[in-house]
Amino acid sequence: MGGTFDPIHHGHLVAASEVAQSFDLDEVVFVPTGQPWQKKVVTPAEHRYLMTVIATASNPRFTVSRVDIDRVGDTYTIDTLRDLHEQRPDADLFFISGADAIAQILGWKNAEELWSLAHFVAVSRPGHPLSISALPHEDVSYLEVPALAISSTDIRGRVGRGFPVWYLVPDGVVQYITKHHLYRSFE
Ligand code: ATP
Ligand code: MG
Repeated sequence: MGGTFDPIHHGHLVAASEVAQSFDLDEVVFVPTGQPWQKKVVTPAEHRYLMTVIATASNPRFTVSRVDIDRVGDTYTIDTLRDLHEQRPDADLFFISGADAIAQILGWKNAEELWSLAHFVAVSRPGHPLSISALPHEDVSYLEVPALAISSTDIRGRVGRGFPVWYLVPDGVVQYITKHHLYRSFE
């Protein structure tokens, strides 16, 4: 599951858990992006990586990969999948994303090669209706997951306005945000 994870929240974790259950996955690898090419200002990668580690630490099937943050330059999903495939040549790869992210998939770099590297799973996301007919490819599955209307953008805004983010993100992530004074200047 790729993402900016700025910060990781319970929407990400529920989506990952539901896909793991439905597709009988052995492991979910969370892959924080390096500098995402669609987003210009993001929190330093080490903070996003550590919050992702904290949020996933208690689940024996959840791991975190540094492939995107250790690669120089913009992050493209094709490179993420190539690197994961190289590290786990015998694994069947599934790429988990929300309805908003999958909708852009045809615009991604090397879209055709993406299909050959992984099976794509699009999960439902409140506020982002997905027309399933817009996903013509047989390598994309759609999964309805419990609706959590949470976004990292909203969490950053809440921290900036002094609103609580308890119960939207794992406790350890709340404490990490406070300890490192993250998102104070967001509105
Ligand atoms: P931002 O607001 O900064 O874009 P975000 O909440 O969308 O943050 P991302 O890191 O951009 O989080 O998302 C990573 C992946 O998780 C994407 O595929 C996205 O669609 C999916 N996702 C994020 N939040 C949810 C949610 N509440 N329910 C289902 N999927 C989600
Ligand atoms: Mg997003």
